[in-house]
Amino acid sequence: MEHPENDSQYKGLQVNGGVTSQPTVNPYLKFRPRRRPSLTPADYVEGIVNRNVSILGQAVTLIESTAEAHQAVAQEVIEKCLPYAGNSRRIGITGVPGAGKSTSIDVFGLHVLRQGHRLAVLAIDPSSERTQGSILGDKTRMEKLSQEKDAFIRPSPSAGSLGGVARKTRETIVLCEAAGYDTIFVETVGVGQSETAVHSMVDFFLLIQLAGTGDELQGIKRGIMEMADGIVINKCDGDNVERAKLAAAQFRNALHLFPPTPSKWVPEVLTYSGYFELGIDGVWDMIDRYFDYVKGTGYFDTKRQQQAKYWMVETIDEQLRASFYHQPEVRALLEQKEMRVLNNEQSSFTAAKDVLDFYFDRLRNK
Ligand code: GDP
Repeated sequence: MEHPENDSQYKGLQVNGGVTSQPTVNPYLKFRPRRRPSLTPADYVEGIVNRNVSILGQAVTLIESTAEAHQAVAQEVIEKCLPYAGNSRRIGITGVPGAGKSTSIDVFGLHVLRQGHRLAVLAIDPSSERTQGSILGDKTRMEKLSQEKDAFIRPSPSAGSLGGVARKTRETIVLCEAAGYDTIFVETVGVGQSETAVHSMVDFFLLIQLAGTGDELQGIKRGIMEMADGIVINKCDGDNVERAKLAAAQFRNALHLFPPTPSKWVPEVLTYSGYFELGIDGVWDMIDRYFDYVKGTGYFDTKRQQQAKYWMVETIDEQLRASFYHQPEVRALLEQKEMRVLNNEQSSFTAAKDVLDFYFDRLRNK
């Protein structure tokens, strides 16, 4: 229809007819299936073993889900994948933020792929919130690796208890191994929280350090150094080379004072540059030497057995806690008891006993 203002009598500007706008709702949308048909545990296992990355990703999502139904399927999938798992090198990588973990994982990863391996990069970061973008394992942080078809990168399971986050990563390792990834990196931020968890699921633990100013050992938790099978000083490039070498010497001296490691392997200290890709072969040779050594002594299997035991106990701990704290009645009683304890009306011990008795009675009467 002509616009009334286009009348030749009209004195104002001309206005053209508008363009018919598209419907805001896509009319074809309703014909699309809403949901993916749900897979059975056997479908997941088949997909994983056949190296279907999309199915592997979906199975990991199930592991990470808190829904009970998902957990039940996930546990069955893990159980069925176990016979295909275990055949990998599991390498933990830690270092303070800024030490160069992502840069290094990118180049170490490419190095591993060039040797014909398949690599999964996982992460443990209990502080990460998936919705805000995980700070760890984020694909954009490993630019080169994320474009490689033989690399599977998965961010840290989103925030939860450290035990819960770590268990999910541990279970994801099983699925990745069943999917044929023979090298697994597990990254964590070296700030003294999650290292023990990572250490308990890897064969080799790599600590990335920087040459700082003054006392090189300052701020590094002794416990983390004790766990390390290798310490590498990153950013050994440009005018930082001398300082990096000095830091390496200081770390070597400090390590002499530590008790022997359970494997009797003497941790090595090396320098490299992740950014300029210098010394990468050296770091990898050290890791190869370590695996040759522990496979030769039998420590490789001993450690894996100890870890399997550890994870069984950890899982029991975690599930017991969850079963206890997830009951609203228990939580309500706990709150009452807290008040009584704070007001000096009851001792901590009898209050704890009352709450536990209440919990166990409820279990018995279920
Ligand atoms: P992350 O927080 O431990 O993951 O550390 P990043 O990998 O993000 O690195 C932190 C910063 O250090 C970035 O600006 C990197 O470009 C830089 N960086 C990493 N590796 C090297 C290196 O080998 N040499 C130099 N000069 N800079 C590096």
